[in-house]
Amino acid sequence: KEFSDLNLPESLQKGISALSFTKPSKIQERALPLLLQNPPQNLIGQSQSGTGKTAAFVLNILSRLDLTLQQPQALVLAPSRELARQILGVVQVMGGFMEGLTTYQAVPDPSTRGQQVTGQVVVGTPGTVMDLARKKQLNTRGMKVLVLDEADNMLDQQGLGDQCKRVKGLLPKDVQTVLFSATFPEEVLGFADLFAPKANSITL
Ligand code: AMP
Repeated sequence: KEFSDLNLPESLQKGISALSFTKPSKIQERALPLLLQNPPQNLIGQSQSGTGKTAAFVLNILSRLDLTLQQPQALVLAPSRELARQILGVVQVMGGFMEGLTTYQAVPDPSTRGQQVTGQVVVGTPGTVMDLARKKQLNTRGMKVLVLDEADNMLDQQGLGDQCKRVKGLLPKDVQTVLFSATFPEEVLGFADLFAPKANSITL
């Protein structure tokens, strides 16, 4: 399997080359054909960090954006600011050849108080995202893809699982929901079933 078999736009092929990826990793080979299906399907994926899961969900997001619209279209929730920052970095390099791509890192920032979030791809921690949505600074109506990364780490932190569910409750009913987790103890399994219903699932 090659990246060129996935029918991705030219700009994304260039982004893949910019990251020096030659072949899809195992998780990318399994997840991408499922993620890129139309109509979009939910996905629950098992993967450790280091497997290439980030590029898998970022490619799906970027392939679904309407670059002519300046409104949030994809949301990634991460358990830490550091992870959110890394994910945003992958979005920017992978999307580096997409004219008009805009991104937003949702971190608490007093200097943006009251301002509207304009990025097409929004990456942040659940608390900050919920805060922006509650204050109507984040328009959630145009969201097409929701990704929850490292779900097991998320649920290890008090209250974050509930915040993820609350955020999801503000998004359109048909949002494509993607959840990745390294481990699936009972608690994560139950959460994943509710968060990403009727999902395709992959285990490595
Ligand atoms: P992740 O599991 O998303 O944290 O990615 C782990 C590392 O693998 C990152 O440094 C990526 O740049 C790298 N990587 C992801 N996909 C590929 C690929 N297809 N070929 C080579 N390196 C990759």
